[in-house]
Amino acid sequence: MKTTCPYCGVGCGVEVKALDAPVSGDRQHPANFGRLCVKGSALGETLMHDGRLLWPQIDGQRVSIDAALDHVAAGFRRIIDQHGPQAVAFYGSGQLLTEDYYTANKLMKGFIGSANIDTNSRLCMASAVVGYKRAFGADAVPCCYDDLEQADVVVLVGSNAAWAHPVAWQRLVQAKAERPEMQLVVIDPRRTASCDLADVHLALQPGSDSALFAGLLNWLAHHAGIDASMLPHLANVEATLAACEAWDVATVAAACQLSEHDIVAFWQLFAAQPRVLTLWCMGINQSQTGSDNNNAILNAHLLSGKIGRAGCGPFSLTGQPNAMGGREVGGLANQLAAHMGFSAAEVDRVARFWRSDRVAQQPGLTAVYLFNAIERGDVKAVWIMGTNPAVSMPEGNRVAHALAKCELVVVSEVSAHSDTAQFADVLLPAQAWGEKNGTVTNSERRISRQRSFIAPAGEAKADWWLLAQVAQRLGFGAAFAWQHPGEIFAEHAALSGFENRGTRAFDISALATITREQYDQLAPVQWPITAASPNGTARLFADRRFYHADGKARLLPPAIPVKTLMTTDYPLLMNTGRIRDQWHTMTRTGNVPRLMQHYDEPFVALNPLDAAAYGLSHGDVTRVQSALGWCSGRVTLDSGLQRGQIFVPMHWTRQFSGQANVDGLVAASCCPDSAQPALKQTAVRLQLL
Ligand code: SF4
Repeated sequence: MKTTCPYCGVGCGVEVKALDAPVSGDRQHPANFGRLCVKGSALGETLMHDGRLLWPQIDGQRVSIDAALDHVAAGFRRIIDQHGPQAVAFYGSGQLLTEDYYTANKLMKGFIGSANIDTNSRLCMASAVVGYKRAFGADAVPCCYDDLEQADVVVLVGSNAAWAHPVAWQRLVQAKAERPEMQLVVIDPRRTASCDLADVHLALQPGSDSALFAGLLNWLAHHAGIDASMLPHLANVEATLAACEAWDVATVAAACQLSEHDIVAFWQLFAAQPRVLTLWCMGINQSQTGSDNNNAILNAHLLSGKIGRAGCGPFSLTGQPNAMGGREVGGLANQLAAHMGFSAAEVDRVARFWRSDRVAQQPGLTAVYLFNAIERGDVKAVWIMGTNPAVSMPEGNRVAHALAKCELVVVSEVSAHSDTAQFADVLLPAQAWGEKNGTVTNSERRISRQRSFIAPAGEAKADWWLLAQVAQRLGFGAAFAWQHPGEIFAEHAALSGFENRGTRAFDISALATITREQYDQLAPVQWPITAASPNGTARLFADRRFYHADGKARLLPPAIPVKTLMTTDYPLLMNTGRIRDQWHTMTRTGNVPRLMQHYDEPFVALNPLDAAAYGLSHGDVTRVQSALGWCSGRVTLDSGLQRGQIFVPMHWTRQFSGQANVDGLVAASCCPDSAQPALKQTAVRLQLL
């Protein structure tokens, strides 16, 4: 059986030959060609039922699935009737399959009539979405993983791909072994495992990325780095270049705390080589200037013409297996469906397609603001699917408090003991990887099948089925009468092409008539998938036509970098992120003993000189305190961290360590354009325990 890994956005193909045999990489899958990382290769060990949520529960008591669904529908109906549709919300996950996401979005936005459906993808790629839409006119990633092998220069910004996207990294390692002349530039305040392969590491100040790329644009303009053939395809060039004039090398060096020599060397490399691929991740997106950081990167690729060709372009690496699929169906509160927004024409179009007169007319609450609304009592019912916001949201303690006072909390989950499950009035058992059946989309726009190969544990159900059952109980049955996820996928594909005429980047209308058998056999394929490109599309913008009405891409003026202010009380800057062998809040990977061998407990990494200054030694346990809370971890000395900066992994929660998650220390301040929280820069202090 061929299926897809449920962890990161590389989206590796997986083969399962027998239930008692280890899983292996799918040699035919174009994302990984047989490779798997340690998490992917341990997938077979996550299929056990230990800790699984096996039965529906109301207030902790086992009930029948019908009783649980009746209770959910009655609760949502009562609150909608009393307080209106804005008083209810869904909060989803990049772990959901596209068919689950489509159903949730259709129910909430199409029939309940509220756009209060957001997702943990808000914490991951919302800034990239804004960047792409502003630059290209559509949320469209131009590149593909094959570009890793074809680039002359790879620039890795705010990404420790060696740990967070290991198979993409393996491809890069092999490409560099075969072509040592390929240059790798890593731009990251921290010296990470990804720097081991780098020709250049620019250890800039946290939050100064946009200055580096604004300076690059200025450099390109003054050093023959503009591709003149791109200019007819670009808008807002002069104003953007004028705004970048201030970013000369001395100013950039001061903002980034880098040497002028190193900065110019990077800019010269970028300008000189025809095939430059820029990869980025959370260091760019999880920032108060996250959207502008994205546009600063896109500016440089557009002006220099390094886009739409093999081996070059701007390429965001999504964190989750289906963050892209969620974006495609409208899983974010500010999108309607099929990459459409909330203009009157788009609302009307979707309303006619769904045959509903209740379609939401305006964007809903995004993640941070959704939980704030629950805390205020404005949102009185929430259905949380496949995610753990009580610990993964910034100001997690506040989210937990909000859930504790919410009138109706429904949690559909795989894990019986997640930190968020403790707040559920109704627990619905969800199918896990290996049980569920549908599609996901990886970072390169490739749609792949996740296939079921084992029977569901206990009474676990598909998320789309649970949602459709509640939709039917709410009286919307005819619109949710699917019997199989393939029928949902076909409807989703039809909507992507409905009255489209090629005006939307996301178009998979060639799959709108897909049969059950074709869906079962569907091979990995990259969108757009249209009558003109029935086998998918590897790269976008080869024709230099973009999705703004005039066909031109837009340059945007740079952001002013935001500095986190340290105080004498909180003199250190804390960065958070993934480690190699764990996934999110560990509800799956934390149960696999061999995945605990890399790190088996929470740690606090800091520069040895800082440790000495605080009287800390390797192996001590230290408390990390911010203005909002504290957590603790084992001191790890790491000379790759600059003085004054520490790193704490995001994974450990009360469920696995008995202590608070690090996100409880982080303020819920967001990029104003994307509403993505800035999770990378928190002022803290340390204290020996
Ligand atoms: Fe899974 Fe990502 Fe590892 Fe591939 S690289 S096996 S998708 S976790």
